[in-house]
Amino acid sequence: MLYWVSMDVKIIRSKRRKKTVQGSLQDGVLVVRAPERATQAELDRAVGALKARMERRLLTQAPSDELLERRARELNREHFGGALRWSSVRWVTNQHTQLGSCTSLDGTIRLSHRLAQMPPFVRDYVLMHELAHLLEPNHGSRFWELVNRFPRAERARGYLMAIGSEPLEE
Ligand SMILES: [Zn+2]
Repeated sequence: MLYWVSMDVKIIRSKRRKKTVQGSLQDGVLVVRAPERATQAELDRAVGALKARMERRLLTQAPSDELLERRARELNREHFGGALRWSSVRWVTNQHTQLGSCTSLDGTIRLSHRLAQMPPFVRDYVLMHELAHLLEPNHGSRFWELVNRFPRAERARGYLMAIGSEPLEE
């Protein structure tokens, strides 16, 4: 299960909590709240069940193309002076090795749905990478100058490296 390999789990024990273990997804981290006296075995079981439930939920919740289009416009305005033009930006589920792709010829940008489960700055970074390809098809120094206008570029690269993600593309 590729999605969860990278998922960090943060466990918060609470005295006030008596029985139930609850989980929520915050910026790509599964935050689990548990009673103080829960055993490791109980926690493991609860975390497993929470992960399975969240995965089902994420898979049935289609991430919105509108949101992606809006982010693309914002990034265009903030980092490219609004100069970029594209024909479509959308999520795809059939991209398993690449996180994003850009066909500069017809201006279509596709992002893998796997990114929808990562922190928003990682999604934005990949979007930024694909937007930069509208100006620079290759990965030359001009290209990286554009990508590095994104303030959290270095952090996003670190995140992707840490989860053992494939390079965006070659
Ligand atoms: Zn690229």
